[in-house]
Amino acid sequence: MYQKLAIAALTLFSLQAAYAADQKWSYAGDTGPEHWAHLSPDNALCKEGKNQSPIDIVESAAVKSDLPALKFDYKPMSLVIQNKEFTMNVSAEEAGSLTVGDDAYKLMHFHTHVPSDEAVNGKRTDMAVHLSHKSAAGQSLGLTVFLTVAADGNNPVLETLAKALPAKPGDPEKHDEIKIDLNQLLPKDLNYFSYDGSLTWPPCTEGVKWIILKEPVTISKEQFAKFQEVYPNTARPLQPVGDRKVLSSN
Ligand SMILES: [Zn+2]
Repeated sequence: MYQKLAIAALTLFSLQAAYAADQKWSYAGDTGPEHWAHLSPDNALCKEGKNQSPIDIVESAAVKSDLPALKFDYKPMSLVIQNKEFTMNVSAEEAGSLTVGDDAYKLMHFHTHVPSDEAVNGKRTDMAVHLSHKSAAGQSLGLTVFLTVAADGNNPVLETLAKALPAKPGDPEKHDEIKIDLNQLLPKDLNYFSYDGSLTWPPCTEGVKWIILKEPVTISKEQFAKFQEVYPNTARPLQPVGDRKVLSSN
């Protein structure tokens, strides 16, 4: 009995420790973006990096290129959703892959930003979804889907997520009975911008290939309100583009 209690206490402690480690940074105040690099030596790139994300994509400066078409092989999956203090995280390792040219990238997980992390022509959209992928060779690929509020907007994926979103931060919640199909999150037009960047939060790891779908998906006022209430203002300040080129598929 005591042993069981001790194990339970230990498990709780380690979960809390792991959870606390996740909470060291934020989007405002003493642990906000301008302090990320000082919070841990692991975060040095948040300050020193030259290929950081997000950026402002200036359309007139984007280079029109013959970019490969995107082939989505996303599959419906059971929902595993977590409130991680500054974002919602959904595990998506059973949800298929995205193929860009000859390279397949497996979907790993996805999360949200309010407003969008990236801007186009200086404007952020109301919200965005970042879908994290990885190739067999270990190349990270981030896909951005912009979301805008519209009077007739209603996205089935956002509707499911808004309903299941835990109000308070905590461990992942598994809902075997709730299925989501990420094909329903994608816009019709799959033209995109592409550039080389980083994770948009600590440790700001570089070497992330970003694909930003140009056409926003519309969501309802109610769907947006739920995310805005739980995660107001979760976008990193825009980072210098520097020598990088942003490519455009059309
Ligand atoms: Zn993100």
